[in-house]
Formats: sequence, structure tokens, C-alpha cells
Amino acid sequence: MSELTPLSEVGEFGLIRRIKDKVVLQHPSTIKGIGDDAAVLEPEEKQLVVTSDMLLEGIHFDLTFCPLKHLGYKAVAVNVSDIAAMNAKPTQITVNIAVGARYTVEAIEELYEGIRLACENYKVDLVGGDTTSSRAGLVISITAIGEVAKGEAAMRSGAKVNDLICITGDIGAAYMGLQVLEREKQAFMADPEMQPQLEKYEYIVGRQLKPEARMDVIYELKEFGIKPTAMIDVSDGLASELMHICSQSGVGATIYRENLPADNQMLEAAMEFNLDPVMCMLNGGEDYELLFTIPLEDYEKIKNLPDVSLIGKITEASEGINLANKHGQAFPLKAQGWTHF
Ligand code: ADP
Ligand code: MG
Repeated sequence: MSELTPLSEVGEFGLIRRIKDKVVLQHPSTIKGIGDDAAVLEPEEKQLVVTSDMLLEGIHFDLTFCPLKHLGYKAVAVNVSDIAAMNAKPTQITVNIAVGARYTVEAIEELYEGIRLACENYKVDLVGGDTTSSRAGLVISITAIGEVAKGEAAMRSGAKVNDLICITGDIGAAYMGLQVLEREKQAFMADPEMQPQLEKYEYIVGRQLKPEARMDVIYELKEFGIKPTAMIDVSDGLASELMHICSQSGVGATIYRENLPADNQMLEAAMEFNLDPVMCMLNGGEDYELLFTIPLEDYEKIKNLPDVSLIGKITEASEGINLANKHGQAFPLKAQGWTHF
């Protein structure tokens, strides 16, 4: 193995230079990126959307099982997901990091390799950030900027009675992936000779460690002429996100249990862990799928999109938020959400 370089050897400016050297700017709206007091952007005649997400070691991620490259990728993806949830297109990000002395230059470069990969995939420019030292763990905070045509942003508040409720991909898998990783970590701590058994959980573990923002669906919706009336990304769990849409739109909702999109590996893992798969799908977090509503008239347009499931309908607020089974019986839905406190 090659020598590792302590951060003190290159210093803050040396580290920033190394980060800058690998950045390739691709957006016409980026006039000046890393290297001055601030970045200069020249957005088109559009509305700007701005969002931030902060990830703390020990709270949002665990470096025992999350490689730094994956962490970098995920930190960008979760921000892009928030931009997507506004029906917007991401254009730039800034990255703030606080790093403990035990980190090496190579470790930070791993982190930035993940960031770079995500920038390439989502076509965003890394245009700046800040670097400081941390006495606790690693902190990474990203701000993403995006663009949307005037009037095209999808707010949480736009759902109307009789709208259809849709969700992309499948849900509950990231949560089950985390259960597997936590179990393997316990086993490893009890016996360091133990190799983690992850093969049969590849999909769900990948959903936890390397989530993707559903920009593909945003482009697809545009192509099919569908504008969601309301949209949110699923970071805390379907039930809690649906409650945000309902409370901000002043409506109720019914979700059809049979229509919830489940992956087989998620179902098998839930059985193995003795967890109710429906609970995992309703309350598991970090899937980063998109939950959105569309007018009933758009049913024909959406029904053939392969990665979109129709899971319910918007009702009057007085009806509340319910989960209906295949016999048509409905039960009030409860959201647990994720609290870090
Ligand atoms: P200042 O003292 O004005 O805050 P810095 O030395 O912190 O300047 O930053 C110099 C340049 O490097 C700026 O363009 C800043 O946005 C960028 N930068 C600093 N830290 C990072 C980082 N961790 N990732 C990306 N860009 C960074
Ligand atoms: Mg600075």
C-alpha cells in the first residue's frame, strides 16, 4: 500500500488546490468556480431553487460500513433529490467540510471522488465550498442550486382533491439495507475475523449506501407533458412525506396497500428480521424516490411509465389520511418519520 499523507502536510490551501484540479466545469451558467472569494453564476431566464443538506458522522452516516466515496456520492445525490422534488434541474453545488486530524489527504480525495462522480452523473458543477477542522467526526454540508422555468416548480402545497398519488421506484429497501448493515457491524465487532455476508442483500444495501436522485423521472415527466401538482422526495418515509403534502395542500389522502411498490429482496429481508414489510415501506427512510400528485386527466399519460406506480388518491381533508386494503377497508395512517434526537 502506498504512503498516506497527513492533512497537515498539504494544509488547507494544498487540499483545496487538489480538489480544484480535478473539477471539470460543464455548465454554461458557471462563470467562475473554485478559486475566488465567491463563485459567479449567470442563470438563464429561470427561477432559481436552492437547498442544503448536512451530514454528520455518527448521526447520518457510519464510516465503519459507508466508504468515503459512497458518502461523497450520497451527499450530492440527496441534495439533487431535493432539487428534483421541486421539478427543477440541478446546476451547481458548493461543498463544506469539517475534517478531524485523523483524516488523510487520500481519504478526503476518496470523498471528493464520490462527489465528482455524482457531479458527472447529474451534470452539476462543483463551484466552491469551505474547509475547516473538526474535533469530533466528519461533517459534510452541501448546497445545491437548480433552475426551473417560471411557474413550473412543484410545491408541496399544490395537491387537489381527486388528484392521483404516484411514487417512483420501490420503497423500504434503503431501510432494510441499513438493518442488514447494522447487523453485520454488530457481528464484526463481536468477532473481527468475521467477514460480512452481504451478497444476497446487494440491492438493498446499495439502496442505503448509494442512493440515486430521480432526475431521470423529472426529464421523463417533462417529455410526457406531465406537471405534478405537488411533489416531495422520500427521505423520511412515505407516510411522513404524504402528511407534508396533505397538510400543506389542505387535503386528505387514501393509499392502496396493494399498490405499494416492493422489491423482493426487501420483502425477504423484512421476513428474516421479523418486520412488517408494509411498515418498512410506509416508514422506512432514505429511498430518495419521488412522491407526487397529478390531475386525474393525466392518468393515460402516466400509466405506461415503467418506474412510476399509482398508489392512491387525494381526498377531502375531512376524510383524513388512510391506508386501504384490497377489501376496501381503510385505516388511519400514522407516520413515525426519522428523528435524530
Ligand atoms: P475564503 O477565505 O475566501 O473563504 P477559502 O480559502 O476558504 O476562501 O476558499 C478558496 C476557494 O476554494 C473558494 O473558491 C472556495 O469556494 C473554494 N473551496 C474552499 N473549500 C472548499 C471545499 N471543501 N470544496 C470545494 N471548494 C472549496
Ligand atoms: Mg473559506
